[in-house]
Amino acid sequence: MEADRHGISASIYAKRRKLSVLVISKGNGALGKTDKIENYYGFKKPISGKELYQNGIQQAKNLGVEFIEDEVVSVQYVEHFEVETVNSKYEAKSVILATGTNRQTPNIKGIRKFEGKGVSYCAICDAFFYKGKDVAVLGSGNYALHEAQQLKPVVNSVTILTNGEPIIENRSLDVDVKSKKIREVRGDTKVEEVEFEDDTIKKVNGVFIALGTASSNDLARKIGARIENNHIVVDENMQTTVPGLFACGDCTGGLLQISKAVYEGAKAGLEVLKK
Ligand SMILES: Cc1cc2nc3c(=O)[nH]c(=O)nc-3n(C[C@H](O)[C@H](O)[C@H](O)COP(=O)(O)OP(=O)(O)OC[C@H]3O[C@@H](n4cnc5c(N)ncnc54)[C@H](O)[C@@H]3O)c2cc1C
Repeated sequence: MEADRHGISASIYAKRRKLSVLVISKGNGALGKTDKIENYYGFKKPISGKELYQNGIQQAKNLGVEFIEDEVVSVQYVEHFEVETVNSKYEAKSVILATGTNRQTPNIKGIRKFEGKGVSYCAICDAFFYKGKDVAVLGSGNYALHEAQQLKPVVNSVTILTNGEPIIENRSLDVDVKSKKIREVRGDTKVEEVEFEDDTIKKVNGVFIALGTASSNDLARKIGARIENNHIVVDENMQTTVPGLFACGDCTGGLLQISKAVYEGAKAGLEVLKK
């Protein structure tokens, strides 16, 4: 089984049920950014998010939970779940998504207007619609490279647009990169071109958004789990619409608080692999 952060809460409950548990995380999430927590039960003095996080990791490690620091770029299902990270691939019977809410929508004119009409958030889901066409991937990190790699065998050409950000170094993928700032994504009824701030234009049929790291929504969407109002849909046992795929914490919406994330993690950890 694989999981992420409140994640850690899920891993504690799952491990105590004698399951083999691996937590994959790329480091600080919302919890790590929290300076002073005064509303979480059981602390006489405020505790920092970082300390709470470190304590949780130590508690899980004491139980035998394995931790790996890496970035997840994709989750797929073929006979079993396959979790792909920047550095490796892992097989799992179940997966718990607990990667918070970090979906980034770029503040570029035209992106929202053309969502579903040339602007896509999932290469593996939509590559087929761009067979033989020219597409761009918006992003500058490992996730953008992963999406470009998925598209390359299907489309005519892929260009990574970093919108002014430096592209990740040591990339193995041979792909065209444009680092210029973007002014607008334009078209009539669907995407036709990207205009840069230096007045130049790149003709494309599609723009795939892959900013930062893959969020829970991105990962859930790739595997076909339902998302509503920007949150992953789960049942009362924290299972998504894909059997064996669970989600907990901020990514399921509702109260964006530690107590709720810990509860949902515990629930997912208890329910995983029950059936
Ligand atoms: C500034 C701030 C102050 C807050 N104050 C409080 C407070 O006082 N009390 C309170 O109850 N709540 C507070 N919150 C909310 C609380 O931090 C969150 O509700 C809680 O941390 C949610 O837990 P989570 O596990 O869902 O997500 P997160 O804590 O965001 O953890 C997500 C984890 O997933 C990892 N991750 C994400 N994407 C990937 C990927 N592609 N591959 C690998 N790993 C990935 C991240 O590195 C991180 O470790 C605050 C939040 C913020 C931002």
